[in-house]
Amino acid sequence: MASRNRALIERDLEVLWHPTTQMKDHEWLPLVPIRRGEGVWLYDLDGNRYLDAISSWWVNLFGHAHPQINQRIREQLDNLEHVLLAGFTHEPVVELSEQLVEITPVSLTRCFYTDNGSSAVEVALKMSYHYWHNRGQAEKRRFITLSGSYHGETLGTLGVGDVALYKETYKPLLMEAITVPSPDCFQREPGQSWEDHSRAMFVHMDQALAEHAGETAAVIVEPLVQCATGMRMYHPVYLQLLREACDRHGVHLIADEIAVGFGRTGSLFACEQAGICADFLCLSKGLTAGYLPLAVVLTTDQVYEAFYDDYATLRAFMHSHSYTGNPLACSAALATLELFREQDVIGRNRELAEHMGDAVAHLAEHPHVGEIRQTGMILAIEMMQDPANRVPYPFQERRGIRVYQHALSREALLRPLGNVVYFMPPYVINEDQIDHLARVAEEGIEHATR
Ligand code: PMP
Repeated sequence: MASRNRALIERDLEVLWHPTTQMKDHEWLPLVPIRRGEGVWLYDLDGNRYLDAISSWWVNLFGHAHPQINQRIREQLDNLEHVLLAGFTHEPVVELSEQLVEITPVSLTRCFYTDNGSSAVEVALKMSYHYWHNRGQAEKRRFITLSGSYHGETLGTLGVGDVALYKETYKPLLMEAITVPSPDCFQREPGQSWEDHSRAMFVHMDQALAEHAGETAAVIVEPLVQCATGMRMYHPVYLQLLREACDRHGVHLIADEIAVGFGRTGSLFACEQAGICADFLCLSKGLTAGYLPLAVVLTTDQVYEAFYDDYATLRAFMHSHSYTGNPLACSAALATLELFREQDVIGRNRELAEHMGDAVAHLAEHPHVGEIRQTGMILAIEMMQDPANRVPYPFQERRGIRVYQHALSREALLRPLGNVVYFMPPYVINEDQIDHLARVAEEGIEHATR
């Protein structure tokens, strides 16, 4: 029987170059062509389905093809698809900004838009430096980051990131950040609590700030979960200590909530769990519930005021992207925020998160599972060669891909990060579907660690 999947794969491989992919892998690892999505499911051209357990790279919140979001975009499409945002404005971007200012801490009062997460981080970095520049402190031009952090893959964001796989080759091209050991609780001593470990690790940040504050514009962090490095997690106390130290040393705090914002960690924003507010809050991904590319940097009056002056002073923030504040994307974001208002999303997520934890708890005993960790709707299972002696599997063995392949054969999309199998599902997943994922993950791990 002719496979429609295969026909599209052949055409694809003639003309495409896929993201973060060694294209030679597709000699033996088939692409998965998707025709449509509905709820947690993705359907391929031959009629097979896959449960999107990773929310299509952590973007989807309320499932694929959500009627309410679809409707809102359709209505916008009939009015205005796009207009430049310099000198012009439109209802969706104003309404969205009002709502974002409303749902984030009171000191965040200004929204600057971009069209993807990396460029939002670039904006926060540039704005922070430019703020100090405008204030006559141009020597504050460095950034402090955590080991294992990820903030995007443009040259600027790679400079403040620390995932070797993405960064190593380009190092000669990058600005040099000050990298401080992460509070990552996977590294804690046996028996030590998350809080004690994260608190103890702050000593390194404290030292870096004491030494470098005079030349540092900002500290940038992924609050609570360092996702791309393998869902490494830490305790909110670290953010409290960090906020206090940044204030003491006169250094900005940039919170990159691109992956963890919009309910992933058990609160609307991860920083809420520490009761802190960053000087720059970067949001994307879930902002449009996974529909359209949009990102925003929220900042304070204090930052805004440092740029507000007569044109000839050249203090303005001269940064633009063609699709800044795109009306269709803003409409998707407005529908997303409407769903948060209409439903107790955070409450339901709490139930789902508990079910996820229970469904995989027994895997902690598996001889090749080093840790199961969870923060809200993010759950990770770390496969290890020898957990007792903390020996990881060599990356060359690519154990994660075996889990990926097994999962596809069992109607699930799991895409491990190296040896870390994780769930980060859309919030419309139900308990039975979580149980299915848990079974598939267990089989996959069994298969991959044999
Ligand atoms: N920061 C974080 C924490 C992210 O997880 C990501 C994307 N995975 C980015 C920045 C970059 O976003 P984008 O892929 O939209 O450029």
